[in-house]
Amino acid sequence: MPVVSLAKVVTSPAVAGDLAVRVPFIYGKRLVSNRVSFGKLRRRSCIGQCVRSELQSPRVLGSVTDLALDNSVENGHLPKGDSWAVHKFGGTCVGNSERIKDVADVVVKDDSERKLVVVSAMSKVTDMMYDLIHRAESRDDSYLSALSGVLEKHRATAVDLLDGDELSSFLARLNDDINNLKAMLRAIYIAGHATESFSDFVVGHGELWSAQMLAAVVRKSGLDCTWMDARDVLVVIPTSSNQVDPDFVESEKRLEKWFTQNSAKIIIATGFIASTPQNIPTTLKRDGSDFSAAIMSALFRSHQLTIWTDVDGVYSADPRKVSEAVVLKTLSYQEAWEMSYFGANVLHPRTIIPVMKYDIPIVIRNIFNLSAPGTMICRQIEDEDGYKLDAPVKGFATIDNLALVNVEGTGMAGVPGTASAIFSAVKEVGANVIMISQASSEHSVCFAVPEKEVKAVSEALNSRFRQALAGGRLSQIEIIPNCSILAAVGQKMASTPGVCATFFNALAKANINIRAIAQGCSEFNITVVVKREDCIRALRAVHSRFYLSRTTLAVGIIGPGLIGGTLLDQIRDQAAVLKEEFKIDLRVIGITGSSKMLMSESGIDLSRWRELMKEEGEKADMEKFTQYVKGNHFIPNSVMVDCTADADIASCYYDWLLRGIHVVTPNKKANSGPLDQYLKIRDLQRKSYTHYFYEATVGAGLPIISTLRGLLETGDKILRIEGIFSGTLSYLFNNFVGTRSFSEVVAEAKQAGFTEPDPRDDLSGTDVARKVTILARESGLKLDLEGLPVQNLVPKPLQACASAEEFMEKLPQFDEELSKQREEAEAAGEVLRYVGVVDAVEKKGTVELKRYKKDHPFAQLSGADNIIAFTTKRYKEQPLIVRGPGAGAQVTAGGIFSDILRLAFYLGAPS
Ligand code: ADP
Ligand code: ASP
Ligand code: MG
Repeated sequence: MPVVSLAKVVTSPAVAGDLAVRVPFIYGKRLVSNRVSFGKLRRRSCIGQCVRSELQSPRVLGSVTDLALDNSVENGHLPKGDSWAVHKFGGTCVGNSERIKDVADVVVKDDSERKLVVVSAMSKVTDMMYDLIHRAESRDDSYLSALSGVLEKHRATAVDLLDGDELSSFLARLNDDINNLKAMLRAIYIAGHATESFSDFVVGHGELWSAQMLAAVVRKSGLDCTWMDARDVLVVIPTSSNQVDPDFVESEKRLEKWFTQNSAKIIIATGFIASTPQNIPTTLKRDGSDFSAAIMSALFRSHQLTIWTDVDGVYSADPRKVSEAVVLKTLSYQEAWEMSYFGANVLHPRTIIPVMKYDIPIVIRNIFNLSAPGTMICRQIEDEDGYKLDAPVKGFATIDNLALVNVEGTGMAGVPGTASAIFSAVKEVGANVIMISQASSEHSVCFAVPEKEVKAVSEALNSRFRQALAGGRLSQIEIIPNCSILAAVGQKMASTPGVCATFFNALAKANINIRAIAQGCSEFNITVVVKREDCIRALRAVHSRFYLSRTTLAVGIIGPGLIGGTLLDQIRDQAAVLKEEFKIDLRVIGITGSSKMLMSESGIDLSRWRELMKEEGEKADMEKFTQYVKGNHFIPNSVMVDCTADADIASCYYDWLLRGIHVVTPNKKANSGPLDQYLKIRDLQRKSYTHYFYEATVGAGLPIISTLRGLLETGDKILRIEGIFSGTLSYLFNNFVGTRSFSEVVAEAKQAGFTEPDPRDDLSGTDVARKVTILARESGLKLDLEGLPVQNLVPKPLQACASAEEFMEKLPQFDEELSKQREEAEAAGEVLRYVGVVDAVEKKGTVELKRYKKDHPFAQLSGADNIIAFTTKRYKEQPLIVRGPGAGAQVTAGGIFSDILRLAFYLGAPS
């Protein structure tokens, strides 16, 4: 267990002088805080309010396993310390001659007294060098033409950049190197194999060439600049785990010696390459130039290490995977280490320890965007009261191509040495264990290894535990391929309860299954293993949940007719406010009608959706549409909004919910359709984290379903729900007064657009019956539409009329019956109302024309309003009444819209 300790300045950074420093030592999970008084604290401002301190004594410790730097070597010729600035330029920064010029410019403009620049090979060159070896090893003589490619790339770059003696001496050296490489590759070709030191020698040439070219370009500005072959200075000790450990003492000695012969104000050093103690060329392994730069920074005790790359800094997640990722202003050393270890390849994980020892801040900057301030990596910043600033979770990273190995069995519990036996078997095959998790029951040990190593691991374990498996002490060694790791990183997670809950909640809501969990003992990291295909979605779900990006919902709209169209317009008008004020990002990524559909991953431009649908719409295909809405990889949550009245679409809900797609709808068909299907949907919805909202199925935008739910959830008991649920029928009976005939009122309503095109669709009572069924089921009754007695207001002889026109023409012949009923009611001081009733006591429902006293709330309705009275155990004397317009495109779309927002809040948008 490496011991990491860090010092935190508790006094305001503005105060210099004698300071008290609290040093928490982290031993495994224990955190012990000591208050120690130190001598003078030298401090220096870096970016923003970050402060770098260098303690005279005692020093801040690094990892004991990684550092053996002898601090006494301070008095040679090399002027160490603050006068040095160290820069590292990655491969993309020196990708071509123009970029090398830009880099030289940055180096020249840095006004530090002394500069040490570590440079990578030109981009792709290291890959090309490895490729040469592979070709030669496989006896493919195309390595020769590939080598010519390497030569030509560097020759052309040098010709662009240099002239005169600088050019000729570089080209002479380049040609020599290429000739040597040719001989070496020939040897590899003949042997059919390259030893590690052969291959390290070959691949390191990219850095040798880029460093020499850059040094020559800097010299062109008349500055004192030399280059350093880091193999003359950096000494590293190869370890068994295919890594190398720096030998700081030896390196420091060699650096002193080197500097006596090469002192210059600007040194351009090769990244990546080094020597073993036996002077054999080696490398710091892939992407190792960051590590080289960190070691150099420590050797020179520089005041800062600037790592230049092609992004604006460390992002909250890999910007190639999460478009909403943000650049982090600051990161603590620990956070940066965890991020890089778990896959943020912007920084090599071993970069941290060498600089942390001397409290040297690292700044990550973008060579292509000099105006961006970059990310500062330093000791954790606190405010004056010792509070750690920043969010609990800083960022997320992922590692792909992993396999989980699960070793399971009852014989493991309480048997010492099982874990050791497992991991020594794994070590024997040289596999790298990335994460380990063991349940406290000791019933199983599970760990993640790179996919390419899992076969060997599995064989080694099966052979090591053959007897235990045969004897039943181990039940299985299970391999779960195609996995990825997702890690959340943040120093403040350690002291903030609930971070895990939020993290897992976000994953659950995106319907992502977690295969294994580990929390690093430092508590700076929570790691989960998920299926590889879920990984990007998982990353985006957690990223958006922690406010690093807005709560984003992928919305698919089905049926852009009157209601769907109005909804799209409402979303268009409200989108900006939702984004700004509520952090909700609704992206309508698909719209489908019955013949055409339109899709766009970044969101359809809602100011033009009608034109776009016509111009760019493709043939509608429900399965393709569903896959698109769900399968998009940018947005963690998807919702289908069914604005049709179609039973076929309603029959898809179960499948959508099963696939983790939320459903919002005003379509009554699912909830009033066959009872078993309804129960299946509700059952699934309750078991999963997928949501199904249908407020607009009853009373459009009026809060009817939500009121009913609120009553039930808080323990009230529904006795009766009675109401006027149809705007049309409300209008008809509210206006069926005085001497007017019923047919006259129907004609007037039809004219005003208050009825369906065929008014019989309203008068039949089916629509009301569906609403009664929905409310009855919501109240827990198992009612079916078929069994519900419905009074049909269409006179029997007219039910078979071929057209609406014929019906309207003949309706006056039947006015008498209703007029008679109205007069009778009036004589008794009552009115007629067409109502739906859910009788929860008798467990039945009805739809009928009933009489109400003139002072009853139902009698005082006007226009096309709905009114619904809930009689419950709590609201027994006076029912709870909801009243208001219950039909019309605007209010219905508004009801659907509010369900979509409710979903966003459920998914974590701030309320
Ligand atoms: P260099 O060649 O300069 O060392 P790398 O390719 O090694 O550059 O690292 C930079 C790349 O790291 C970026 O282009 C980016 O795509 C990737 N990356 C992954 N995760 C992150 C992250 N969290 N923040 C920034 N960049 C990241
Ligand atoms: N050139 C080396 C590589 O590509 C080292 C580095 O660029 O960091 O792996
Ligand atoms: Mg890199």
